[in-house]
Amino acid sequence: MNEVKTPKKPLIFYYGIAMVVLLLLNMLVMPLITQHQVEEVDYGTFIKMTENKEIGQVEIEDNQILFTNKDKSKIYKTGLLNDDGLVQRLYDSGAEFSGEIVEQMSPLMSFIVSWVLPVVLFVVLGQLLSRQLMKKMGGPNAMKFDMGKSSAKVYVQSSDGIKFADVAGEDEAKENLSEVVDYLHNPNKYKEIGASMPKGILLVGPPGTGKTMLAKAVAGEANVPFFSMSGSEFVEMFVGMGASKVRDLFRQAKEKAPCIVFIDEIDAIGKKRDNQLSTNDEREQTLNQLLTEMDGFEGNNGVIILAATNRPESLALTRPGRFDRRVPVELPDLAGREAILRVHAKKIKVAPDVDLAKIARMASGASGAELANIVNEAALRAVRDGRASATQADLEESIEVVIAGYQKKNSILTTREKLIVSYHEIGHALVAAKQTNSAPVQKITIIPRTSGALGYTMQVEDGDHYLMSREEIENKIATFTGGRAAEEVVFHSVTTGASNDIEQATKLARAMITRYGMSDNFDMVALETVTNQYLGGDASLACSAETQAEIDRQVVDLVKKQHAKAVRILQENRPKLDELAKFLYEKETITGEEFMEILNQ
Ligand code: ADP
Repeated sequence: MNEVKTPKKPLIFYYGIAMVVLLLLNMLVMPLITQHQVEEVDYGTFIKMTENKEIGQVEIEDNQILFTNKDKSKIYKTGLLNDDGLVQRLYDSGAEFSGEIVEQMSPLMSFIVSWVLPVVLFVVLGQLLSRQLMKKMGGPNAMKFDMGKSSAKVYVQSSDGIKFADVAGEDEAKENLSEVVDYLHNPNKYKEIGASMPKGILLVGPPGTGKTMLAKAVAGEANVPFFSMSGSEFVEMFVGMGASKVRDLFRQAKEKAPCIVFIDEIDAIGKKRDNQLSTNDEREQTLNQLLTEMDGFEGNNGVIILAATNRPESLALTRPGRFDRRVPVELPDLAGREAILRVHAKKIKVAPDVDLAKIARMASGASGAELANIVNEAALRAVRDGRASATQADLEESIEVVIAGYQKKNSILTTREKLIVSYHEIGHALVAAKQTNSAPVQKITIIPRTSGALGYTMQVEDGDHYLMSREEIENKIATFTGGRAAEEVVFHSVTTGASNDIEQATKLARAMITRYGMSDNFDMVALETVTNQYLGGDASLACSAETQAEIDRQVVDLVKKQHAKAVRILQENRPKLDELAKFLYEKETITGEEFMEILNQ
């Protein structure tokens, strides 16, 4: 229970309030209820009123006398003195003797006020408190104390009516998964021949490519319940809960079979168990439980486990009899991007002139989730500008918003900085154009973005490229150095603006030597292994120290050579460089066509 932190401040706060309320009750309300409108008078007044026969009712108590006036509208009290003839005189004056002049609080009432009310108050406050606590800890089930079986949590979810048709592109994945759907529809067909479905299917791919959607679509197509849980949820909960949650999930799933169990981010529990330094008992137990459950499945019981991950290599799960089928879910290609845009554009109003193919080309490298976001941003932009539908310009701007962040409206670039950024961006574009003789960019802008980018060059693909030649990579490195080269050629000084270019150029150059076999003397030897390819890639060198030094030397040589080439290109085209940079400086945004027009004049 060490995760349950009692929120100290609120607790004291609530008890403080309770104390104050009780005190006020005691000081103000109680006296009002018990002794309303009793006026204290001296004994002389009492005698005088007796003599004047002004007394209505009278009650003699142990140490005081309570009495009323004739019409009983007022109550008085006075101390009790040793007065022998008192009773006789009162009787003579015609006063009524009564036991209940003052409606002293009834015993029941006083019991309620002094005992029941505080208890009720505390119970109510306690309820309030615990509800707040539960909210903080993530739902009422978190407060369950019989954690062994948190049967209250139901894992079944709606698949939101998602069908394969809603998932654009990803045809291979869909084809692969439609077999599962067919199996769920018609298990006998498979049983007859003795085939059984894989117990687990692992969807592998970068974030936002539609893995969750695909899993839901399988459930939607097969019309079966969809159980969903995220791997991190298993291990984030209370210590010792992970394993029982797995048990729970599978128990529920078996009851509802046939069904789909989807475990997102399975890498959170499926880490390879070779790193003894960071053993996490909780994760171990959860993983063991998951494996036990999967091993315990008889082939054809109708529970299909789909899991998603973007770190396939860190999984200990891909062994026969477990997740023995992998379905790659890759970033969409050009056609895929267009299809995804089309699916999402249907949900908003778009102007008739919108060219989604062009948008797809501009948004190269975007994931499905980013494309969905681009369409939504375009719709938001249209609303902001008070238009009834999203236009091509909206979509183009939102690509930049999603990729580079919003425009910084009140940018604070000095004139000189703006000039440097203009030259820098034109430097990239000019080097690229001179090497390939084609329009290198879709658009260049020097409007700063909230992401921190001062300028931005949007590249376009004509189609998809799967192979890159050595020359192409070298040209790319030269293009990366083109920005810095322009600064050197024109201003004879350098700025920090090239940091990202430097990183990219180095990465490419290093990969050429260590992974693509494009070095002078290492031939086809892999000197580096890459893990987490879907999350940027973490490279680790696998070679001797001397080789490392040699790699470093070659990387520097390679980049230097391309940098020199970029400088040469810019020097040879200095007039065009100046003209284009001036044009960009004035217009702040220019298109690829405008760029080529000036270049070819
Ligand atoms: P993942 O699970 O791979 O991280 P999701 O399935 O959660 O990705 O996708 C996030 C969102 O991105 C979806 O809700 C959907 O709007 C959009 N999306 C991603 N891929 C596609 C696709 N292939 N077709 C349509 N929409 C997609």
